[in-house]
Amino acid sequence: MLVTTLADELRAQKPGARVVSLSLKPRSAIGLAGHGGDAVVWFDEPSRSFVTSTAFAPAPVLDVARFFADDSFEAEQHREWQLAAPADSYQYGDALPGERPDRGWTTLFPHRIAGGAGVDAVFADHWQKSPLSDAYLGRLAARLIDQWQLGQRGTTDFLGVSFSALDMVGHDFGPRSREVEDILINLDATIGALIEHLDRSVGRDRYLLALTSDHGVAVIPEQHGAGRIANEDLGAVVEQALVQTWGAPSQGTYVAASLGGQIYFAEGLFDRWRMSPAAVRAVELALREVPGLARVVRRDQIDRGDAVTRAIARGYVADRSGDLFMVPERGWIIEQRVDGDATTHGTMYDYDARVPLLLLGAGVRPGRSTEAVTPLDIAPTLARAAGVTLSGRDGRPLLP
Ligand SMILES: [Zn+2]
Repeated sequence: MLVTTLADELRAQKPGARVVSLSLKPRSAIGLAGHGGDAVVWFDEPSRSFVTSTAFAPAPVLDVARFFADDSFEAEQHREWQLAAPADSYQYGDALPGERPDRGWTTLFPHRIAGGAGVDAVFADHWQKSPLSDAYLGRLAARLIDQWQLGQRGTTDFLGVSFSALDMVGHDFGPRSREVEDILINLDATIGALIEHLDRSVGRDRYLLALTSDHGVAVIPEQHGAGRIANEDLGAVVEQALVQTWGAPSQGTYVAASLGGQIYFAEGLFDRWRMSPAAVRAVELALREVPGLARVVRRDQIDRGDAVTRAIARGYVADRSGDLFMVPERGWIIEQRVDGDATTHGTMYDYDARVPLLLLGAGVRPGRSTEAVTPLDIAPTLARAAGVTLSGRDGRPLLP
């Protein structure tokens, strides 16, 4: 991480401030916390257990370990994920084209949370991709609010919870699924319980809560006449175009990686390519033949003032981002074929980019705003409420 986070600044500026950050995903728990924290906890796939890192604590945090001992997720093996509401109240049918359920599951409810023997990878997948995982993180948050008196001492504390089941289930079943709708019904209850807990133990006027999401998702392409572009194929198309122009590379390949809709050339190759009109033309012509690919943006041509290049520029980090950025047509997805997902996210189209933003608690009057806002505004909003200064921030405070 190249910058400090809100939680980092809180720890630095408010002596005694506690930072708790919980998620299934490492990048979510770490991203919410920053460079330190009292409990920064995520689900580790290889060991199929909740962990932290020595970057945050020299040993497992005792109160967190106690929670896992008292309320073990392993005990939820063999539970069944059933619809929370009457079947005819859901917007969509239970088995739409293109759904790609996990191993051991069908497209139809109910889904049994179970692997083969014991806590294996299948069980871990099922559990994470069910409402049980969000509810579990909610219970851990409630426990730490009580045990560590979060928000109930003479300073300001930070509690961040990233609920990941919706993303994982969305990848497998798409947004037009009973699975996604049911995850949301359950998540609503989980967040409701957490808010009630905060109201009881901290008091509605003594905390400020922000809710948002990092992205939306595309409808499964097969459900609306769109299609898929595989990163693997994009890399092969560019490689082949360069081989045809320059001949086979003396060693390795011209394309180092094709990931997340970005092509990474081999070290130092971008400048050679950019200076060679024949190579530029060969790559452009080859990519023009890829169905569903709307546009290719070079890294020396981002931020040209239009919506597409501005969106790319916002996610661009020199020396970490790719050399070429692929923009699919509306409704199409760019996927990593090896992931086997039904759908994904990652474009600047409204269904990917528009997310909810809710504020609740101290200083927030009930209401709804039609003003344009962004999740970037959340950190400055919370920082102002906490009396913390952010350096070089994006966004602006939304509350007076
Ligand atoms: Zn995702």
